[in-house]
Amino acid sequence: MAMEAVDNSITLCQSCDLVIRKRALPTGVRAICPRCHTPLYDTPYCSINGMLALCLTAIFFFAPANLFPVLELEFLGSMRTTTVIEGALSVYHQGYWLVGIAVLTSAVIAPGLLLLSILMQILIIKYGLNSPSLRTAFKHALKIQGVLTQLTMLEIFVISFLVAAFNLADFATVSFGFGTFCFTMLFIMTLFLMREYDLEHMWSYLDER
Ligand SMILES: [Zn+2]
Repeated sequence: MAMEAVDNSITLCQSCDLVIRKRALPTGVRAICPRCHTPLYDTPYCSINGMLALCLTAIFFFAPANLFPVLELEFLGSMRTTTVIEGALSVYHQGYWLVGIAVLTSAVIAPGLLLLSILMQILIIKYGLNSPSLRTAFKHALKIQGVLTQLTMLEIFVISFLVAAFNLADFATVSFGFGTFCFTMLFIMTLFLMREYDLEHMWSYLDER
């Protein structure tokens, strides 16, 4: 018990190893190492209602981002559109099944699970912390949170749309579909959500009651 208390309140500067005792910070303030001025830690942002708004917006964009075409190609008069899922499936059917599975996991399944998991965590914090079974569910969600975050790679797909568009623009007419807009919005909302999200702070809700 005593060991745990020491671990939580003391931190090491990442660049000069100075031992620093953590203090509560006002919102928007960052602690800086007194010796080498390296940023040490922020206040956990984690405004639950802000996260709820971001999470719901991201979920709102999730379905159209995956159902509407992200890329529209016009080549020699024929029009071809594709969604993220179709893209993954066609790569899969061409024999690159590992790539197909990777795309499906990192662009569709992991982000979906991540958003649902965060939504569940937020709702439990707001309404369900007194129920033992919901607390257990919350604990499990926090445990897999790291894996889901690492598997979510929306930014790679936003970048690859842009790269594909520039590469194909010379010999085909490329236009972005409604899906591209939704996918980019999904990416931005998830980015801001993950900036607000602080795993350590989420764990601390379990100790409070
Ligand atoms: Zn330092």
